[in-house]
Amino acid sequence: MNITIDGPGGSGKSTVAKLIAKKLSVSYLDTGAMYRAIAYYALKKGVEPDDEPTVIALIENLEMKLWEENGVQQVSVNGENVTPFIREHNISMAASTISKIPAVRIKLVELQRKIASVTDCIMDGRDCGSFVLPDAEYKFYMTASSDVRAERRRKELALKGQDIPFEEIKKDIEARDKQDMTRSFAPLVVPDKAVVIDTSEMTVDEVVNLICGYICR
Ligand code: C5P
Repeated sequence: MNITIDGPGGSGKSTVAKLIAKKLSVSYLDTGAMYRAIAYYALKKGVEPDDEPTVIALIENLEMKLWEENGVQQVSVNGENVTPFIREHNISMAASTISKIPAVRIKLVELQRKIASVTDCIMDGRDCGSFVLPDAEYKFYMTASSDVRAERRRKELALKGQDIPFEEIKKDIEARDKQDMTRSFAPLVVPDKAVVIDTSEMTVDEVVNLICGYICR
């Protein structure tokens, strides 16, 4: 059984997906972390995320591994565990830019499909129900107003000691939405037959219960 949750940043996908994974005893795959890992690695190597030919050369022999440690997804690139660094504010836009490159997506989608083929999983991202697993048993699309999403992201970053002004985060979120929704290859869309949930006025528990209601009925 595979479940997909797509939606823009800050809609609450990963929080909800982790809780549902635990509740249903299925694996959780955070696909955004995979794009973030490549963006982090590129920046570390001095490669600009929009420099397509250099990024393509960089990922040719790149090995990504995903595993779980104390319930937290870990990701490594060429043997380096990059998990602690990929949530930095500057990585978000870099991940969005690098994710426009079809070769990057093809490489990661192959890995995502491989994981989903051997385990029951709940996968969250931007193209999981529309492109990665269009035949998934359950597909959801979570969204929320950009004000709500920016405030959630601001709080999340502040908890990690990154104090970024609300307006800057909102601008970044809206720019990423635009970039993710308008790219030519596997853009962020509402997947066919997905249940759309606006989480602006909902608590995490309400969203989890709503989704579980669809899956467990
Ligand atoms: O979800 P998260 O904010 O970690 O994703 C970072 C970026 O990675 C997104 O803005 C998006 O551009 C890209 N992404 C994607 N496809 C996915 C998951 C993430 O293009 N399935």
